[in-house]
Amino acid sequence: MKKYCLPVLMLVTFETIAVTLWLAKDNLFYLLNFSYIGISIFIGQMLFICRYKHARRIVQLLIGLYMLIYLGLINNENMQIEGFWYYLFTGVFEAATIHYAVAKIFGPLIFGRGWCGYACWTAMVLDFLPYKVPSGPRKKIGWIRYTTFVAAFFFVSALFLAKVGNIERIMFFAFIIGNALYYAVGIGMAFAFKDNRAFCKYVCPITVFMKPMSYYSLVRIKCDTDKCISCGKCKKVCPMDVEMTDNSRKRANGTECILCTECVKVCPVNALK
Ligand code: SF4
Ligand code: SF4
Ligand code: SF4
Repeated sequence: MKKYCLPVLMLVTFETIAVTLWLAKDNLFYLLNFSYIGISIFIGQMLFICRYKHARRIVQLLIGLYMLIYLGLINNENMQIEGFWYYLFTGVFEAATIHYAVAKIFGPLIFGRGWCGYACWTAMVLDFLPYKVPSGPRKKIGWIRYTTFVAAFFFVSALFLAKVGNIERIMFFAFIIGNALYYAVGIGMAFAFKDNRAFCKYVCPITVFMKPMSYYSLVRIKCDTDKCISCGKCKKVCPMDVEMTDNSRKRANGTECILCTECVKVCPVNALK
């Protein structure tokens, strides 16, 4: 029964968010939106328990395509970081601000970087590229994420300060151009560094929120050190260079773990949970 705890915890968490926002905002959209996401994650985790090897990819596609095509392109919601700043500046607790609060700021206290492993529409594409495991050591260019974070902030601030009209429309085009740029840079970096997740490690501005919050994540990979035989197989398959056999919060790249469970799958003695 213990193996069903995580899927049930995730489903209950998302249903609680769905019902709370539905009642608080008197808007049925929130009930449908967060229920859909919660059920998608639940389905993926149940498939994982059944040892279906594409379980995570199914969730990624279910949520990523829904957010990119339905929320972004059809409903004109800019869920990129500039959309977050835009809604925050207008003082509206809707769309991107709620999305950020749930998935990227407070949610990581419970499910860490689960967003990055199971829902992000950028990584949904990057994970199809050939370099699932990085071939070289990590580069010391993580500072780039702070520049993209600040650039997005200044871009939206400038629109407000210049009193540009119809910012809502600009946000829609920013969403399209921003995503095209993310995909172009992400794919280029994956091939340049031979690492599908290079964009996530060095450029993505959202990690400025997610890394510190996921440090305290409730859900995390743990190692039964009594069982571990130090074979090193887990580290060879980790896309994010995490030192998962160290159980401390300070383990190397601990805030990078996307909960993909590749390390769990290859452990010959089931030491990782
Ligand atoms: S780091 Fe950024 S691009 Fe990568 S999966 Fe997370 S949110 Fe998506
Ligand atoms: S392989 Fe393990 S430690 Fe690495 S990102 Fe996936 S779940 Fe986290
Ligand atoms: S794969 Fe399992 S046994 Fe091998 S080092 Fe990792 S946790 Fe230890």
